Order: sequence, then structure tokens, then C-alpha cells
Amino acid sequence: KARKRFGQNFLHDAGIIRRIVACIAPKEGQHIVEIGPGKGALTEGIISVTKKMDVVELDRDLIPILRVNLFRYPELTVHEADAMKFDFSALAQSGPIRVVGNLPYNISTPLIFHLLSQAEVISDMHFMLQKEVVDRLAARPGDNLYGRLSVMAQYYCRVDSLFIVGPESFDPPPKVDSAIVRMTPHQELPVVADDLKTLEDTVRIGFQQRRKTLRNNYKGVLTAEDFEQLAIDPSLRPERLDVADFVAIANYISRRQSVSH
Ligand code: SAM
Repeated sequence: KARKRFGQNFLHDAGIIRRIVACIAPKEGQHIVEIGPGKGALTEGIISVTKKMDVVELDRDLIPILRVNLFRYPELTVHEADAMKFDFSALAQSGPIRVVGNLPYNISTPLIFHLLSQAEVISDMHFMLQKEVVDRLAARPGDNLYGRLSVMAQYYCRVDSLFIVGPESFDPPPKVDSAIVRMTPHQELPVVADDLKTLEDTVRIGFQQRRKTLRNNYKGVLTAEDFEQLAIDPSLRPERLDVADFVAIANYISRRQSVSH
């Protein structure tokens, strides 16, 4: 029986499973890590090509079922662990990993942030998520759902929304539509002078109140003169700024801090 607290919605639609695996396009010898394999719906299509694979599953009761379903693949390594605390870089000792998963929706956003913080060891990610989360990840400046998640995801990655999956493809069916997203970490990240926290803070402050202007949201942080230096119009709403603008603000703030120290 599916456990709600583990966000379990098992894929049972063979056509959809094939389509997801086709998007992932596994190749022999690649190191793919799956989060939340469940009973192995996606796992077999991948490991039958790659031969070796690591999976991270929190529900220990599912692991014997997974092992039975995948008994033909001795090089499946099962980590009984919480993906939110899992050190993915430990699996990337001999090269970057690819990460995939039909993620538990209740933790998908913090899990994505956890993975973004290890983006330098990840060559790409393919996830099934709530469609709304995919729309947020992929939103462009000016879109309704453009916000913190879009800016932070697109700072690290190129984000491509691939296709929508209806509730009927799962058991039990979730209440919402789902979608497949591909996130490909950039080879080089725009430089953030200080540490990443400055960028995170800058984006959070900027979007504090979406309907207010930048002048309002950055009150006490940026003056009219600062906006002039940055060549950013303070009467805009935050949704008008792209990743490069937020990086410029973060760098401006951290440079100013280092001057005043
Ligand atoms: N991949 C399977 C499928 O497509 O049928 C299962 C997908 S189900 C939406 C999410 C899976 O993630 C479940 O197997 C669940 O037990 C597992 N899970 C939930 N929380 C987890 C966590 N923190 N770390 C690792 N796995 C987790």
C-alpha cells in the first residue's frame, strides 16, 4: 500500500515510463543515480542499459520488493537513506553523475535546492514533479510563476519542461497534473563575488512582495543612487529582473560590504 507520508505515487503506465526513459536516454557505462525508485518502475529501463546504478530510497519496506523486481541486475546499489541528507558528491568520485527520479512531491522543492548545492558533480537531472513546480522552475521573467525558485534554478541550470503526465498514470493518482523536467547544470556559473548566500538573500529580498516595486522590496538595502549605479529601474517589479540582474545586485551588495569592513 502506498504511503502518503513518503509521497508515494507509483507509475504504472508503461507508455509514460518508456517516454521518460527515452528522454533520459541512458547509455551503457553512464553513472545514473535515482531518487525514490519505489518498486523500480523507472529503474529497470535505465539499468538494463547502464548495467550499474545507484538508487536512494527512504522507505525500507519497499527495498525487498525493489530487489526482487530487479534481481537480474547484481550491480544495482541500494542506499537506504533520506535523499534530503544524501551526499551525492560521494557517488561522483570517478566522474559526474546523472540524477533522475519521480520525486516525492511533498519534499520536491527543498530536495531540488539540496541537489543544486551539489550541481558541480551532476551532469544533468530528469525529474517528475508537480506540473506547477516544473512551471515555476522553467518560468521566464514576466511570467506569472516567475520567482525565487526560477531564479535559483536558472542560476545553476538550463531548465527544459519536457511533457505533462496526467494523474491516471499513477497509483494512487495524485490530485494534480505532473510534468517531466530536465535540468542541465551550466558548465560555468555567473560569478557571485561573495558566497552563494548573498545571491539567495538578494533574490529572497527582491521577491518579498511580488506586487511591489524593487524600490520597496530593497528599502534599507539599496538607495536610489545604488539603483542608478546598477542601471536598474527601481520602479520595476521583481518579476522583470533576470538571473544576470540578480547576480549584479548580489555582487554590488557584497562588494559594498567588503569595502565597509
Ligand atoms: N519511482 C517510483 C515510481 O515512479 O513508481 C516511485 C515514485 S514515488 C512518487 C516517490 C518515491 O520516493 C517513493 O518510493 C518514496 O518511498 C521515496 N521517498 C520519499 N521520500 C524520500 C526521501 N526523503 N529520500 C529518498 N526517497 C524518498
